[in-house]
Amino acid sequence: MNNKLYGNLIFELSKPGRRAYSLPKNRFGHYDVPEEERRAEDAALPECDEMTVVRHYTNHSGNNFGVLNGFYPLGSCTMKYNPPINEEIAALPAFSMLHPLQPDASAQGAMEAEWELRHALSAITGMSDFTLNPCAGAHGELTGLMIIRAYHEDRDDMARKKVIVPDSAHGTNPASAAVCGLEVVEVKSTADGRVDVEDLKPLLGPDVAAMMMTNPNTLGLFENEIPEIAKLVHDCGALMYYDGANLNPLLGICRPGDMGFDVMHVNLHKTFSTPHGGGGPGSGPVGVRKGLEKYLPYPRVERDGDKFVLNHGHDAASSSPTAHEIHVGAFTGNFGIQLRALAYILSLGKENIKWVGPLATLNANYVKESLKDAYELPISGPCKHEFVFNGLKDKSTGVTTLDVAKRLLDYGYHAPTIYFPLLFHEAMMIEPTENESLETLNEFIDVMHKIAKEAVEEPDTVKGAPHNTPITRVDDVLAARHPVLRYTKE
Ligand SMILES: *Cc1c(COP(=O)(O)O)cnc(C)c1O
Repeated sequence: MNNKLYGNLIFELSKPGRRAYSLPKNRFGHYDVPEEERRAEDAALPECDEMTVVRHYTNHSGNNFGVLNGFYPLGSCTMKYNPPINEEIAALPAFSMLHPLQPDASAQGAMEAEWELRHALSAITGMSDFTLNPCAGAHGELTGLMIIRAYHEDRDDMARKKVIVPDSAHGTNPASAAVCGLEVVEVKSTADGRVDVEDLKPLLGPDVAAMMMTNPNTLGLFENEIPEIAKLVHDCGALMYYDGANLNPLLGICRPGDMGFDVMHVNLHKTFSTPHGGGGPGSGPVGVRKGLEKYLPYPRVERDGDKFVLNHGHDAASSSPTAHEIHVGAFTGNFGIQLRALAYILSLGKENIKWVGPLATLNANYVKESLKDAYELPISGPCKHEFVFNGLKDKSTGVTTLDVAKRLLDYGYHAPTIYFPLLFHEAMMIEPTENESLETLNEFIDVMHKIAKEAVEEPDTVKGAPHNTPITRVDDVLAARHPVLRYTKE
């Protein structure tokens, strides 16, 4: 395009008099940005031609690292392959051009897809029904805890304010409980990394609303005592919440609904494939067991004969919500991610989905066993889809988990999750996923051994890493102690 012409167009569009037209009005007919908050003069945008801008961003995008660039063993995040067919389906104009306020009659296909996904998730997890509305795992946890709170309030059981969370849990668990106005109580892990039932017993009582569990837990270990824990929790009148971020190794093999969980979320962007680097986008559908369906949030896609309708709950304009009516977003969630998940589930099918867990488990155990001579394995024995090392075995070199993670970047790998879970000082959490080949795993194992050797022979190389990335080692401590929180002009 002619740069000058294009520049003029931008100039025309950004003339002060035109500003009012470019701002959207909200549904009350007001401009969203109040007059006094609006810019009086045009922004000082850099003046340059289109080619320069395009090259700038194209070059930057080449600095990105994703699962299509190399091995990405980020534990707890399930960075699996995202098949292009999912992207193609989510990009179909009939889906991508939908407006969220479109009349039901013209969005039947989209609602059918949501309906199908909900039922596929119910079949996979053993839950009775799902809401697709929450837009992340953490959002699902909050929704699930709101459902649990509504359940107790509905029974006039108002004293239940405590949520029991294992010390190995993901940080979002206690955070969601706190945001929901509930009190967090920590239960300890045993030496073998599982919930300590003896520590749990005295914590249970009439003030407990729920117990949150992740299975396999964040150490990649299957929680063997779930039936007993579920019985203890139910006997005290509380509900069992399942953090389904680690559902991957259980797919098609066993179901949280059969283990005694009442409410759960799944991370569609982990277990059911969707690119999710950089903090988003996400989708955290919440499932409930039979009897709790009435607490699922609005809006809901419902079936009316052979048609689908969107039930918004109470009429927002004229009445207040009915008791315990839950709303966790204006619409039915991140639809594009739901489509990707449905495409993934349907393309694997009931038979092939059973292979995801065993392959992910085999890969994780292979890497763990191949590296435990050089890296400290705090909990031995078989793991599920992921495992945790506690830094290098040889602690005398002074090389930390952070150093190893940074050095991996030099060799073209994404780092594993580090310093989580908090149970070990030098935690390094590795999740290869089911997608990686033996060759890829062997290359990674070789590099990890090489770094362990470097830690002894040339520790400063590892401590100063990375050396060949666009940005080398940043001073985390300085940045944390003296944050510079302002925009700078060059
Ligand atoms: C990722 C994760 C979460 C939170 O999910 P988000 O989608 O990142 O909000 C919760 N629990 C565990 C175990 C996780 O791995």
